[in-house]
Amino acid sequence: MPSIINIQSAFPHSIRQSFRLQHTIAQSAELHGFGFWTSEDVTLQFRPGRINSGIVFFRSDIDAHPSVPALVEYREEKPRQTSLVNGAARVDMVEHLLAAVKALQIDNLEIWTDQPEMPGFDGSSRCFFDILKEACVVKQPAFKPVRVVTESFRVGSGTQYITASPHPHGLNSYRYSLVPQENYPLEAQDYRFNLTPSNFTWELADSRTFVAKFEAERLIAAGLCKRVTAKDVLVLGEAGPIDNDYRYADECARHKILDMVGDFSLEDCDIVGSFESYRGGHSLNAECLREIVRHSMLLSDEYISQHNEIFCCDDKQHLKVA
Ligand SMILES: [Zn+2]
Repeated sequence: MPSIINIQSAFPHSIRQSFRLQHTIAQSAELHGFGFWTSEDVTLQFRPGRINSGIVFFRSDIDAHPSVPALVEYREEKPRQTSLVNGAARVDMVEHLLAAVKALQIDNLEIWTDQPEMPGFDGSSRCFFDILKEACVVKQPAFKPVRVVTESFRVGSGTQYITASPHPHGLNSYRYSLVPQENYPLEAQDYRFNLTPSNFTWELADSRTFVAKFEAERLIAAGLCKRVTAKDVLVLGEAGPIDNDYRYADECARHKILDMVGDFSLEDCDIVGSFESYRGGHSLNAECLREIVRHSMLLSDEYISQHNEIFCCDDKQHLKVA
C-alpha cells in the first residue's frame, strides 16, 4: 500500500495525533449584552449545528433570517474589528466570540443574533467561552479537516508583518510582539501561546481589548461607544489603565493573540502551523489566513476517514456510529 507509506513519512506521529472528531453543543444557550460600538442591546442564541455545517450566523431580526458563514471569504474590512457580510446578513465584532468557539473546538454551531454587533461584555472572550462550555461540547461522528502549513511564508510590510512556518510538533502556535508607536501609553510586550482549550481558558480568555485614552476620546466624539466605560475595558492613560487594573502584566499582547485565534478561525478546518505577528492586526490576520492556502496541505475529513488506520485518532470508533 504505497499511498500509506507516503503519508506516514510526510506527517510525523505528532501531527497525525492532532486529528480529531467534530464538535457541536448538546443544548441551546442564550446570552444578552450590548455592542461596544453601537451601544445597542443584543441577544445571542447558540444552537447545535449539523456535521460539516460549520459556524453560521443568522439574523433573527430580519425577515427570512439571512445567514453568513464564519469564513474569510465573507470578511469585510472594517477598522478595529472583524465583520462578516453575506447580502442582508451582516455581523460585526465577531472575533472575541469566534476565538472562544475555536478554542473549545466547536465546529458546527448556529449563532442567532437580533443585532449586527456582537455583545462586548468586558472586551474579552470569557462570557462566550463559559456559556458555550456550559452548553456541553459533544463529539460528532466525522473528522475535522486539518490544514498543515508545509512551508514558511511572510505577509505584511517591514514595520508590521506575520511570519508563518510549519510546526514540528503538530500544534497551532502563536506569538505576538507588541511594539507600540511613540507616545502610545504602553510598554512593549511579547507573548507565546499554543492553542488548546485548557491553555485558552487559563492564558487568554480573560484578556481584554484596550484603547488609549486619546483614541477613546475620538471614538466618543464620533458618537460611538457611548455605553462603554473605563471600568468595562482597558482605557490606557499615561499612568496605566484608568479606573481599572491589568489582569496580567502582558494582558494587551495576550489579547492580540486572542484576536488572532478568532481571525484564524475563519477557515473551516483546524490549522497546524506556527504564526508570529509583529504589530499585526485584523487585516493582516486575514491576509495571512488567505495566504496559508498556497503554503499548506488540506487533509479533508474524507481523506482522513479513508486513512484513519494510520492517523491513529483515539475517537476512531465513533465513526462507526455514523
Ligand atoms: Zn480584540
